Amino acid sequence: MNLSRATQPKIIAVANQKGGVGKTTTAINLGAALAKAGRRVLLIDLDPQGNASTGLGIEADQRRLTTYDFLIGEALPAECANQTTIDGLKIIPATTDLSSADISLMANEKRSFLLHDALHQPAIDELGLDYILIDCPPSLNILTVNAMVAANTVVVPLQSEFFALEGLSQLMLTVREVRQSANPDLRIEGIVLTMYDQRNNLSQQVEADARDNLGDLVFNTVIPRNVRLSEAPSFAMSVFDYDPTSKGAAAYLALASEIMAKEPQSLQRSS
Ligand code: ADP
Ligand code: MG
Repeated sequence: MNLSRATQPKIIAVANQKGGVGKTTTAINLGAALAKAGRRVLLIDLDPQGNASTGLGIEADQRRLTTYDFLIGEALPAECANQTTIDGLKIIPATTDLSSADISLMANEKRSFLLHDALHQPAIDELGLDYILIDCPPSLNILTVNAMVAANTVVVPLQSEFFALEGLSQLMLTVREVRQSANPDLRIEGIVLTMYDQRNNLSQQVEADARDNLGDLVFNTVIPRNVRLSEAPSFAMSVFDYDPTSKGAAAYLALASEIMAKEPQSLQRSS
């Protein structure tokens, strides 16, 4: 039994079927922000493109055991989890072998539960985690469904651009289907506006629309368009290592605070 943590880690899927909306940027920097606040975090790279793995400095030739091995039960969590340069943040890296083809061919009743089962095995306790973040691929495919079946909540990055809200109903429909079929307790953690440009009327309009239509589901924090956020991954760093004084760093700390405010009391006292 693990006495150091009274609760199970909270599992958060970062999902939106549109590409380029800030999923990976959010997964990396939210994970790093939570780790900076003393939480123990595992990031699971569930995108065969492996951008989160690269962005956190796990080179392709270092990715010996990957999310694919973890999903199919061929490797233990501790074997797949790579330490990053950030204390308290580990990552299970992805390579192209994670393309969903293999998984789609599996027997129907099992294939949506691969990540759920991998994350609910007793060996996960050995990592002593507070949070598990899942960086989803840009699609509502079987991999994203696996993330939603495994998760407690979903964080949805929404790019502050025209049509941003259009794709959201499809995502919400998938959440509803997963609730009905496999994971009745799945909740939306929140929708986070990304690449927000304060000087741009369109950004302000998208924010107003989102808050009008989605109310409390929208995080108070908005992530500004910030060049430091886009530069950091090419140096294999989170924004906190690359430029801790940037607006991007401040925004992801604020986002992490909103999420930590919902923690059970026991976890808040432990940090
Ligand atoms: P996704 O994972 O949804 O495809 P990414 O997080 O990879 O999206 O972001 C897409 C591109 O936009 C990347 O080049 C990333 O560096 C950049 N980017 C993401 N968020 C921001 C931001 N807040 N400010 C500036 N650039 C950003
Ligand atoms: Mg991505």
